[in-house]
Amino acid sequence: MPAPTGPPSRPAGLHRQPGDGWVECGCGRRHWGLHGAAGLLLFRTDPQGRAEAVVLQHRAEWSDQGGTWGIPGGALAPGERPEDGAVREAAEEAGIDPAGVLVLTTRVLDHGVWSYTTVVARATTAHDARPTDHESLAVAWVGLAEVPARPLLPAFEAAWPALRDLLP
Ligand SMILES: [Zn+2]
Repeated sequence: MPAPTGPPSRPAGLHRQPGDGWVECGCGRRHWGLHGAAGLLLFRTDPQGRAEAVVLQHRAEWSDQGGTWGIPGGALAPGERPEDGAVREAAEEAGIDPAGVLVLTTRVLDHGVWSYTTVVARATTAHDARPTDHESLAVAWVGLAEVPARPLLPAFEAAWPALRDLLP
């Protein structure tokens, strides 16, 4: 087994896949995901069809910029579509049943050598969002108005106003 390429103190025994690894980026940072990364922004609607809450993940302290809240997601596998990777990661980390996820649109943050795709999806069933692996301290439905009050992952905080505008 090669040495783990993840953050320090990454616990042993996590599901790993060939896309795991860091990319040194021209922006001066390094990013997780040799083939890019993707996350699932899953929203549920009120009876009038308006988005009322999204699933957020309180990210484990050992993860990149840990302790902040973001959306479930992670590194893409080789050849994996961002939509598929985001749904897969949300199932692994947050107990989201792929059968109850309707992908509506995507938003791509393109850094050239690396990109991050936010997959915006509607919950078509009730999801018992909860931590289902060690990458989460907590997973919760968070009302749209409460999202900015959380200590957010900086990249998600920066993207949130634009993402919010994509929700019905
Ligand atoms: Zn970058």
